[in-house]
Amino acid sequence: MAYSFRICRILGIDVKVHVSLAVILVILIYVFYVNDPPFGFSDLKNPMRIIYSFVMAVSIFLAVLIHEVSHSFVAMRFGVVVREIDLFIFGGVAVIEKLPKEPKKEFAIAIAGPLASLALSTLMLIPYRLFTLFGYFNLVLAIFNLIPAFPMDGGRILRSVLSKYYGYVKATKISANVGKVLAIFMGIFGLFRNIWLALIALFIYMGAVEEEKAVTIEGLLAKYKIADVMTQNPIFVTPDTKVGDVIGLMLKHKHLGYPVVEDGKVIGIVTLKDVINAKEEDLVSNIMSRDIVVVTPDTEVFEALRLMTEKRIGRLPVVEGEKLVGIVSRSDITKLAEILDILQKG
Ligand SMILES: [Zn+2]
Repeated sequence: MAYSFRICRILGIDVKVHVSLAVILVILIYVFYVNDPPFGFSDLKNPMRIIYSFVMAVSIFLAVLIHEVSHSFVAMRFGVVVREIDLFIFGGVAVIEKLPKEPKKEFAIAIAGPLASLALSTLMLIPYRLFTLFGYFNLVLAIFNLIPAFPMDGGRILRSVLSKYYGYVKATKISANVGKVLAIFMGIFGLFRNIWLALIALFIYMGAVEEEKAVTIEGLLAKYKIADVMTQNPIFVTPDTKVGDVIGLMLKHKHLGYPVVEDGKVIGIVTLKDVINAKEEDLVSNIMSRDIVVVTPDTEVFEALRLMTEKRIGRLPVVEGEKLVGIVSRSDITKLAEILDILQKG
């Protein structure tokens, strides 16, 4: 994420914070400073008043961090790669690559966070103000995350339970609908009572829509392999093709990227972005990207889409061995999904 920086590493995972957190931290310190007990320290004398306010504000982030680390810990036990943990305004996100679709694993990963928060909430029982408040906040964190709606943990827990009976795609749809209905009620209630609740409702509604969309596309594409959507015998260039000729190809065929082939092997890709700043007589070998991601005809279409999204690229050469056999673009895949969606509904 932009404007994020690393603060530490836990279990080999980078923990990053967004700069906006500094502002939130100051606001939290202020809130604890001016609030009356039990939610603030206005009754204390300085310097204890400011110290307690600061410690409490930091420990709120600590609670969120422990929650996310718990998700990550269970995910890693299942061999899932956790790339980083981001802490920002509303809490944290553990960036997990390819969440497992097995209900049992999804359930275990999703419930680990709320369980950790619930366990910490028992600190409420300690009759020492900092602990009581820390425990209380963990309880709120646990309950909030157990709301059965995406993107909250509760939404994933609900889906994993429903998956056993309805399958992954249908379970996602049902969970998303539960989340939407909940969000609408929360939103209406919030508009009259508490604007924060309305904002959270909006956040939940969008989460439900996003999750449903992603899973629907995945479901639609499930049966398709790259061989079904790729363009065969694609136009390619060689390392000694001139940039001017590449631009000519782009204007003629309206494709924005071409594989670079040498002795039958794909060695790079040249895209509109590469040619923009080059001179017409420059050679492709000087401007092409050599760091290429390729797929094979057997790669699942959804997997290719995931790769393109993750690496932010628009097209992938398709190879067999090292030989170029096709090319597939993001729009090839999204068009296929659109057509399948219409056919399914019609
Ligand atoms: Zn969580």
